Amino acid sequence: MPADAYVIVEIDLQRIHANAQRIAEHTGVELWAVVKSDAYGLGASRIAETLADVVDGFCVFQLHEAVEGELWNRTHKPIITLGPPHSLDAAAYLAQHVRPAISTIEQARSLADADPILCVDTGMQRFACPPEQIDDALTAAPIREAFTHASRLDQAHRLTELMRGRNLKLHAAASNLLDDPTARLDAVRPGLALYRDAVRITAPLVEVHETRSPVGYSGFSAQRHGVILCGYARGLRRGPCLINGEKRQILEVGMQSAYVEISTRDCVGDSVVLYGESLELADIARAWNTSPHEVLCRLARAGMRIYR
Ligand SMILES: *Cc1c(COP(=O)(O)O)cnc(C)c1O
Repeated sequence: MPADAYVIVEIDLQRIHANAQRIAEHTGVELWAVVKSDAYGLGASRIAETLADVVDGFCVFQLHEAVEGELWNRTHKPIITLGPPHSLDAAAYLAQHVRPAISTIEQARSLADADPILCVDTGMQRFACPPEQIDDALTAAPIREAFTHASRLDQAHRLTELMRGRNLKLHAAASNLLDDPTARLDAVRPGLALYRDAVRITAPLVEVHETRSPVGYSGFSAQRHGVILCGYARGLRRGPCLINGEKRQILEVGMQSAYVEISTRDCVGDSVVLYGESLELADIARAWNTSPHEVLCRLARAGMRIYR
């Protein structure tokens, strides 16, 4: 068994397709699927192929992701970048059917031939054009479209205000703003919402023990414990898991393995669900003291992918 087969990442492509379809119907505007960071670890090429017939295009962070994922060849859908331009060579973008986000006058000038999109700062204060430089940026290149990275509704509204009367295509909404009609503007850019309820990540119990406390590095106590071959080197942290449908805890995480709480019914070979079924990203994120995005990015890369 290859080492990464100890952790299985099952991805339900049909579910992802259905999620996209539902978002498109619900919002009624253009849908640009965010497949940056290798589709949050789920595999940008396969996800993009799956979504090609329901989306208007794809969003990556930088140009090289579109190249590596062969997004244009596989989907024939246009691509935009969300991050700062890594290259100022317009031809490199045109060749890949990628339009760059720009936020400075210099970037606007250099990439004028690549149909650039202006990223406007409404609060994030990184790779975005400050409001007082919008006029100059818009005269430095022929710009037809602008967006903002909005974590709150007021940022979407701020974009509308700043761009009033300029006749540009506008977008702001990621997954968190899909339900607000005033945030939808001309297009939505969900990432996480596409992948909801479509992923199950498991590792089998390779050992079960009646515990002689103290156990492990930390000397924790338990009645019984199981062992999985997934540790912090693969991004795992302490938090909830599911075994045979019951919520359990990951008690201690080592580099390549972890101790999990088990009951008398749990046996070697049983699956420990690290994410999926009734275990939500939000539950794990709370235990990890981080965002659901970070949990998915870490766990999706923890093992071998199987597409369904
Ligand atoms: C990542 C990202 C998105 C998608 O965010 P989700 O919360 O995953 O929907 C949208 N817009 C920008 C600018 C982003 O960086």
